[in-house]
Amino acid sequence: MKRRADLDDPNVREVIVVGGGIAGLSAAIYLGRAQRDVLVIDSGHSMAKWEPVVQNYLGFANGVGGKELLKNGCTQARRYGASFASDEIKTVSARKSFFVLKGKRKTYRARRLLVATGIFHLPPEIPGVKECLGHSMFFCKDCDGYRVRGKRIAIIGTSNETVEYALGMLDYSACVVVATNGERPIWDRQHARWLAEYEIPVARQRIRDVDHRKRKIRALEFASDAAIKIDYIFTTRGDIFHNELAKKLGAKLDSDGQIKVDHCMRTSVPRLYAAGCVTPANCQMIIAAGQGAAAAQAINRDFFEESLASHSLRRFREEQLEEEKTVPEVSKPKAKRRKK
Ligand SMILES: Cc1cc2nc3c(=O)[nH]c(=O)nc-3n(C[C@H](O)[C@H](O)[C@H](O)COP(=O)(O)OP(=O)(O)OC[C@H]3O[C@@H](n4cnc5c(N)ncnc54)[C@H](O)[C@@H]3O)c2cc1C
Repeated sequence: MKRRADLDDPNVREVIVVGGGIAGLSAAIYLGRAQRDVLVIDSGHSMAKWEPVVQNYLGFANGVGGKELLKNGCTQARRYGASFASDEIKTVSARKSFFVLKGKRKTYRARRLLVATGIFHLPPEIPGVKECLGHSMFFCKDCDGYRVRGKRIAIIGTSNETVEYALGMLDYSACVVVATNGERPIWDRQHARWLAEYEIPVARQRIRDVDHRKRKIRALEFASDAAIKIDYIFTTRGDIFHNELAKKLGAKLDSDGQIKVDHCMRTSVPRLYAAGCVTPANCQMIIAAGQGAAAAQAINRDFFEESLASHSLRRFREEQLEEEKTVPEVSKPKAKRRKK
């Protein structure tokens, strides 16, 4: 017998996870294994798809493709009963005991909602560089710094973060240049001083084109026809946080737009949880997976406490006692033969 949170309306799911990327899938595995009625709604744009070889995920000594990780995660979640819908949730509202989610295709209802909608890294405004994404153009020093050891690296951007990326990259390569793509730098004096002190060159011209073959970058070509040979680009234009649903429900966000959560991934709104890159996490797959699992554990705990408070566990137990064998049969001990 499987227990479901007590509901009058069978169309209300126990849990909906919006976002079937790394955090959402990890949560779905935990929720499925806790025998929750869980639906994952996903619009299919996980950032993990962009990474051909993930090298820093525990357990894959030779790396694993981001797409493969998602596919396996999906199969694993289905194995434990999670169901999936391909849809994009456009808006959400809260009722007394459940949420109503309106998607492009359908409307959904759930007692608990986990937002695992991720972020979007803004690509640089340079023509023809999109196909190099994940191959020779990156966003994340922690994911990709190791791969570019000893190579020629350009950091594109104008902010303090750009300068800090360039400084951080010195651990991996001596050949680091900052390129502002013709924009006025907005880094502060301290960061300007560091650029000078660490002798990191700054190319200030507009980038006209990126010379690349088979997704491998070869040079940055400037408006003046000058060019510099480089192997890899890191870009620091910032991120868009997919926080709209949490915002609509009144959840607290930080100044960057990340959804504020406690250590169990509960937001400031009751019954609403968030996990992965849309929270103030370090945006790494293994961290997103851990956060998804933590959110699922919190949801399970909250359901459990609710079932004690509402006595639904008691009612379930009564049904069990009526319908099922609840005590293992005890076999009689075999009579011992007496020795003659
Ligand atoms: C080029 C690149 C390389 C990377 N390489 C690495 C690496 O090597 N190692 C590493 O640890 N990390 C890497 N990352 C980061 C990694 O991809 C993220 O940390 C991880 O995907 C975050 O998981 P998430 O679940 O928070 O978000 P995502 O995996 O991005 O999933 C979010 C999901 O939510 C869905 N969604 C959003 N809004 C809605 C909505 N309204 N309705 C329905 N669905 C919605 C999206 O379609 C998406 O599927 C890389 C990222 C990029 C871009």
